[in-house]
Amino acid sequence: MTDQDCIFCKIVAGEVPSDIVYKDEHVTAFRDINPQAPIHILVVPNRHIATTADLTAEDEGLMGHLVRVAHLVAEQEQIATSDRGYRLVLNYGKDGGLLVYHLHMHVLGGRRMGWPPG
Ligand code: AMP
Ligand code: ZN
Repeated sequence: MTDQDCIFCKIVAGEVPSDIVYKDEHVTAFRDINPQAPIHILVVPNRHIATTADLTAEDEGLMGHLVRVAHLVAEQEQIATSDRGYRLVLNYGKDGGLLVYHLHMHVLGGRRMGWPPG
């Protein structure tokens, strides 16, 4: 299922250009257009799921796969080591800073992340 007005559905379908770094039957990973770190990649399910609030029990396998792909793209970017590393982020709601309503996991790396996040 796709949402006709959804930018990430269009990226998955190849209708909007993007710098795709990984794609399989279930998920697509592409570089964020407004990177917040030297490496900033988004991993999205190919199927339109708006937010984490829309996940069902059937999506648990998909979400596990999405996390594994996030690590795989970090390996591709050579940051998946304990002396380098990365941060995975899922935003939700106003306080979380969610802007795009197609579920996406941020993979951020290439610099030291602050904690707590600002
Ligand atoms: P969020 O605040 O979690 O909803 O994050 C949405 C992210 O999508 C932001 O980091 C944006 O820079 C990114 N973004 C929006 N449009 C595009 C696009 N066309 N290609 C790549 N990244 C995008
Ligand atoms: Zn979508």
